[in-house]
Amino acid sequence: MNTAASPMPQHAPMPQLQVIDGQLQIGGLSLTHFAGQLGRTPFYVYDRKLVQQRIADVRATLPPEIKLHYSMKANPMPELVSFMSRLVDGIDVASGGELGVALDAGTSPEAISFAGPGKQLTELRQAVSSGILINIESFREVELLAGIEKELGKRARIAVRINPNFELKGSGMKMGGGPKPFGIDAEQVPAQLARIAKLQLDLEGFHLYTGSQCLNAESICEALRQSYELAVAMAAHAPQAIKHVNLGGGFGIPLFPGDRHLDLSPIGNTLAQLVARAATELPNAELVIELGRYLVGEAGIYVARVVDRKVSRGQVFLVLDGGLNHHLAASGNFGQVIRKNYPVAIGNRMADTMLETASIVGPLCTPLDLLADRIELPIAQPGDLVVIFQSGAYGASASPQRFLGHPEVLEVLI
Ligand SMILES: *Cc1c(COP(=O)(O)O)cnc(C)c1O
Repeated sequence: MNTAASPMPQHAPMPQLQVIDGQLQIGGLSLTHFAGQLGRTPFYVYDRKLVQQRIADVRATLPPEIKLHYSMKANPMPELVSFMSRLVDGIDVASGGELGVALDAGTSPEAISFAGPGKQLTELRQAVSSGILINIESFREVELLAGIEKELGKRARIAVRINPNFELKGSGMKMGGGPKPFGIDAEQVPAQLARIAKLQLDLEGFHLYTGSQCLNAESICEALRQSYELAVAMAAHAPQAIKHVNLGGGFGIPLFPGDRHLDLSPIGNTLAQLVARAATELPNAELVIELGRYLVGEAGIYVARVVDRKVSRGQVFLVLDGGLNHHLAASGNFGQVIRKNYPVAIGNRMADTMLETASIVGPLCTPLDLLADRIELPIAQPGDLVVIFQSGAYGASASPQRFLGHPEVLEVLI
């Protein structure tokens, strides 16, 4: 339905959304109409259909034996988690708070796993009493869980999170390999397993997570193979047959100019080989992949209104009613080494052909509040709606909303 006169702009080549008569379409409405109905800006909007399509694509490419989990720290909006919990095989949480959201969403406790360093005694108690799988991150957690079992008269379900001796090459954030606060160093795992055996804890399996936001399929395949092999090697030290191996994920989404979509097919092939090997090497184990941003990131946009248009010494600034307080990642302050522009458009002027170079900033009185640095855009005016694409993950919940006291952002699931 894209009219020929409305190509997606250079900075937002987003084929998943439509443009009609120069307006980006959201849930069957023009962006202007949608924002009017909502009654206020700024907001995030997440599209169920896009999430569902992405999950279907992943399922179609990965072997059916692979269990697909959603890592809810990517987007913990309760309605979204509830929607996800019906589409995936499990939800991975990283705090007692997230555990509460996952349970409230109706996720079955058998399908929830809990990773994360520094688990508090209260969180561990909550985890044991609700019957979820706990990914152990330290020797301390093992001792605490042994005590909690006695106290509650209930078995703890545990998996050991292994900090591997390799990395996910080309990932945006490395979370395994070298010294890390996450998991147990691979060389210490046999000693930890011996302690688990001594305490007669119920070991179900292993968890490995090497990194995030990787767009190179070969690197992901290599990390998956290495993770699988490490799990097999560690299984030889386990007191019980291994029932569960979470191999991690790290699948990235294109965010910046030049980024390409991840090619899933080699990953599907690698996982099929691992499933075949597991039939003899880990015969009782299910293999799990946990994805966050890959499932939801491209299904969401952030929308803010232009409040002011200024020209400073020849440079155009569009000042919005929201900025890094709602979308820290787009400002480049969420783990990026070099600041790059997220894909951005003026959602109600998609067909305008008169362009100018402008920078887009938020309302915060700090130079960090830069959402787009000198990009080509249609000429925008106060009242126009700026859209930041690829914003369904690490948005509202990963931003310092109280910084400078502006209103909180709305989140809508359509
Ligand atoms: C953050 C995290 C994820 C999800 O990362 P994405 O890049 O959003 O896919 C998965 N597993 C663990 C253990 C994590 O900490």
